[in-house]
Amino acid sequence: MAYVNYKGIVLKEVNTGEADKIITVLTAEEGKISIAAKNARRAKNSLSSGTQLLCYSSYMLFKGKELYNMSSCEVIESNYEIRNDIVKLTYCSHILELISDNVQEGEPAESVLQLLLNTLYVISKTNRSLEFVTRVFELRLMSLLGYEPHVISCIHCNKTDDEKMFFDLDNSGLVCSECVNKRGRIYPLLPGTVKALKYIMLINPQKLYSFSLSEENIKELSTISKKYIKEHLGKEYNKLDYLKYYK
Ligand SMILES: [Zn+2]
Repeated sequence: MAYVNYKGIVLKEVNTGEADKIITVLTAEEGKISIAAKNARRAKNSLSSGTQLLCYSSYMLFKGKELYNMSSCEVIESNYEIRNDIVKLTYCSHILELISDNVQEGEPAESVLQLLLNTLYVISKTNRSLEFVTRVFELRLMSLLGYEPHVISCIHCNKTDDEKMFFDLDNSGLVCSECVNKRGRIYPLLPGTVKALKYIMLINPQKLYSFSLSEENIKELSTISKKYIKEHLGKEYNKLDYLKYYK
């Protein structure tokens, strides 16, 4: 039997049979894959810890007719801090849903996996604003999925240093105060938000979260990100709406 050894993060878990599970895992090699994990719900089973939501593990797999079967697994990072915190967990469920819906099966997804690993690290090990981390993640993900907005200059005249820039949803990018079409779907941006957008799109992956933003800037990013996602992915992701009950 041919085995493969993949590292990946559990995006979804579904209970089957008496004590089994089918999990969806994000891998660098094949994007999303489905894995059957026999007896993974038995407490003392060696597969039980590595098959939990958000767990990053190394899996030894062999291919069945329809899905992979798990022969063994070794946890690299359990991310238990997130599973034990309802607010962090809600933000992460939103993040996992975005990935699960938009990453294909069988297509390599190394950069998305790297982005998810970085994001989960920041959420589990630091106290950074979850709203900040989530919006940065979303915009960077959109770029990796092929929907990078034009943020280095005005899309019409290429001006880069206008004090008053707008985000133009109809044209997926920035416009300056001279080129702006006031009747279009436009959102005024503070200079700090413009800077942040450029940073998020251009910085190398390791430094993605190495900056900070004011509440006002985060609010603007959040508005743009939500509208941009709905525009291009055609769906409203509203898991985070439940959070108002915890505030
Ligand atoms: Zn312009």
